Amino acid sequence: MARVYNFSAGPSMLPEPVLQRAADEMLDWQGTGQSVMEMSHRSKAYESIIHKTEELVRSVMKVPEDYHVLFLQGGASLQFHMIPLNFMTGTKKADYIQTGAWSQKSVEEAQKLGTINIVGSSKDKKWSYLPTPANLDPKADYFYYCYNNTIEGTQFHQVPQAAVPLVTDISSGILSQPFDVSKHAVVFAGAQKNLGPAGVTLTLVKKDFVSRIPAGLPAMLDFKTHIDSGSMFNTPPCYAIYIVGLVLQWIVDQGGADRLYAANAQKAKVLYDYLDSSPFFYSPVEKKDRSLMNVPFLTRTADPEAAEVLNKKFVKEAEAVGLVNLAGHRSVGGMRASIYNAMPLAGVHRLVDFLKDFAAKNA
Ligand code: PMP
Repeated sequence: MARVYNFSAGPSMLPEPVLQRAADEMLDWQGTGQSVMEMSHRSKAYESIIHKTEELVRSVMKVPEDYHVLFLQGGASLQFHMIPLNFMTGTKKADYIQTGAWSQKSVEEAQKLGTINIVGSSKDKKWSYLPTPANLDPKADYFYYCYNNTIEGTQFHQVPQAAVPLVTDISSGILSQPFDVSKHAVVFAGAQKNLGPAGVTLTLVKKDFVSRIPAGLPAMLDFKTHIDSGSMFNTPPCYAIYIVGLVLQWIVDQGGADRLYAANAQKAKVLYDYLDSSPFFYSPVEKKDRSLMNVPFLTRTADPEAAEVLNKKFVKEAEAVGLVNLAGHRSVGGMRASIYNAMPLAGVHRLVDFLKDFAAKNA
C-alpha cells in the first residue's frame, strides 16, 4: 500500500528518510551485527548513540551550556507532576496560564503540591485564543505555559513576560520554528510529534534550578537522579532515543529550525487561507494565536446533529483517499489537521483539494 498523508496529532508522521534509515539499520547497526533494539544500554555502541543524540539536541535547539539535557520516561504527563515536585519548592506557589486541556492537566497535577495562581484563562471562549497574563505573583516559584495547544490549535508566538523563571510544555511545537531555550528554566516535550516515536520525553533543565530540588524524593521522580546518571539510572527507552537522533539529523539536513519554520509557515498559510475563504469550513481560532502545527476546523453547519454527521462523513471519505487521522480530539469534536515537520506541502495541498471537493458536494 502507498504511504498515506497522516494528520495525526501524535504519534504522527515521521520523515521518510528517517524510517528508511532505521529500516536499513534494523538488523545490523553500523557493523555491530545487532539491532539498536537488542543492544545493552551500557554498551559502547549505545553510549555513542545517546551521546550523539544529546549533542544534536544541543546544537539543533541551540541549548546553552548551562542546561541539562534529559531523556525521560512517563511522557509529558509525568513532567506535569515532576516539575512542581522538584521546582515548586520555595514559596510553593506558581503561576499557570490556562489555555487548554493540556495546561488544565498540568494545573491539576501542580495543585496536588502547592498553590496555583491562574494568571489567565481562555476557557470562556472554548480555548479559542490566548489570554494576556495578569496579576502575576512576583513570589511565584515559576511561571508555566503550554507553548502549543495541540487540541485547541493555539500557539504562543511570543514568549510570555514574567519576572520569575519560565517553564514550558513544548511537546507539539518543538523544532517547528526557532525557539529561545535561554529564556526558560525548564522546557519539556513528549517526543511523539516532531521529535520521534512515543516513549521518550526530552526535558531541558537550567543548571541553577537544580539547587531547588528537595532531598528525599522518590528516585525516579527526582531530576537529580537522571542528571547524575546521564539519563541512564535505569534502562532508557533506547530505540526511541535512537530514532530521535535520526530525526534531529534529518532536521540538520533540512537546514535546521529556521528552514523548517519557513516550510511550516507556508503549509499553515495554505490551509488557513483556504479555511478563511471557505463558505463551508472555518477555523474557530483567533488569527493572531493560531498554531502552525495543529489546525482544528469545523463546518459552518448550524445544527449540531447535522454537523456531527458531516464530520463523520468527512473523516471517512478523507481516509478512503489516503488522508488519515483528521478527526478532532474526542473532547472537542470537529476536525483537526496536524501538520508537523514531516508533513510535506504536497500533503496540505491534497487536503485543501479534498476540502474544496467535499464542500462542493455537501454544501
Ligand atoms: N502536552 C501536550 C501539549 C500534548 O500535546 C500532549 C499529548 N498529546 C501531552 C502534554 C501529554 O503527553 P504524553 O502523552 O507524552 O504524556
